[in-house]
Amino acid sequence: MKILVLNSGSSSLKFQLFTLPGLAVAASGLVEEIGEARGAAHLDFMDGNGNEKTLKYSRQVLDHRQAIRLMGEMLQESGCFSDISELAAIGHRVVHGGEKFSEPVKIDEAVIDAIERLAPLAPLHNPANLTGIRVAMEHAPDIPQVAVFDTAFHQTMPEHAYLYALPYECYSRNHVRRYGFHGTSHSYVARRAADHLGRPIDELNIITLHLGNGASAAAISGGKCIDTSMGMTPLEGLIMGTRSGDFDPAILFYLSREAGMDIDALDRMVNRQSGLKGICGENDMRAITKSAQEGDARARLALDMFCYRLKKYIGAYVAALGSIDCVVFTGGIGENAALVRQKACEGLEAIGIRVDGEKNNTHRKDILEIHARGSACAILVVPTDEELEIARQTMRVCGMRREYS
Ligand code: ADP
Repeated sequence: MKILVLNSGSSSLKFQLFTLPGLAVAASGLVEEIGEARGAAHLDFMDGNGNEKTLKYSRQVLDHRQAIRLMGEMLQESGCFSDISELAAIGHRVVHGGEKFSEPVKIDEAVIDAIERLAPLAPLHNPANLTGIRVAMEHAPDIPQVAVFDTAFHQTMPEHAYLYALPYECYSRNHVRRYGFHGTSHSYVARRAADHLGRPIDELNIITLHLGNGASAAAISGGKCIDTSMGMTPLEGLIMGTRSGDFDPAILFYLSREAGMDIDALDRMVNRQSGLKGICGENDMRAITKSAQEGDARARLALDMFCYRLKKYIGAYVAALGSIDCVVFTGGIGENAALVRQKACEGLEAIGIRVDGEKNNTHRKDILEIHARGSACAILVVPTDEELEIARQTMRVCGMRREYS
């Protein structure tokens, strides 16, 4: 039996097929540019002899219905999957669960309605996630389907952390509050870090730093999130690839009055033209660290700003937690950019966060310890795996028990 995990974006469908009971990855793939004149799709899988293989397709994919059909075709061609009856369950990533969902849930009509009602909070994501859910339910009406929410893990934040100091009616009437995102990743790497340290998670204070194109930090006490850097939307907090992170919101009024920018232009600016890209014209951290090391002043500035913001959040979260046992780096940047890890922790020795330069420059596929001997706080690089976590949560919700490893 198998579990299929679907992550439906507005013009893409990412999927992964896991084999039970061990949740080994049988295949993973992506259908891109859905709705465009020329779509592209690929599937990575292991053939019967244990060799890694890739299938590539280039054809127009009009909508998610066709994307799911193409996914089925590719999976069948790979030999990893023959029939829908092989599926024990399907897990869906859903970006926004609002205050309604603090846990993954089995999907029924009421859950679909609730996800739909939450669409104004995530207008780019929830409708796309829902399209994937609806099409999957049409194709596999008898297979249990589970929604796993990016926001759910952060629902344990206390009021004083999730409220904005705006008129209280903004919250009570309009649901304006901090929700946080990347929850599946934060919860997964925190638990793996605790397992690695051989200590119960309920005894630990952990800061997790998910640094990819989007970036967020979470303060986790006893396994529960007490604060996170993303807010009502993924714009708040750390500096990101193209998003600004924290800035004075009055800048928007100023630019509207002084530069005549309308709401759409301002939205585009802060979400797509800011962050690393806004400072140095580039949002790929590999290119930025290379240019910075070659002496490019803007690239160096972007890197300095990114790491300084990170350091401020680490400091703030040590204060929020009261003490710190472990800092975890994850995401494409967190897992790979040793220079970012080093610069973000520089100067934090006084609060017990001390990186070992040599260990930090090592690369491992699995968990890497990068703290110096005698550091009061463990510093770990933990590769994230949101799809695996969604598969595990799907098993749990469907009553298929498997101990977390
Ligand atoms: P997403 O948020 O889209 O899932 P990822 O988690 O894949 O993104 O992270 C993408 C970021 O990781 C990019 O900025 C990329 O440059 C960075 N990255 C990936 N590999 C490296 C590397 N070896 N060194 C520095 N940065 C890297």
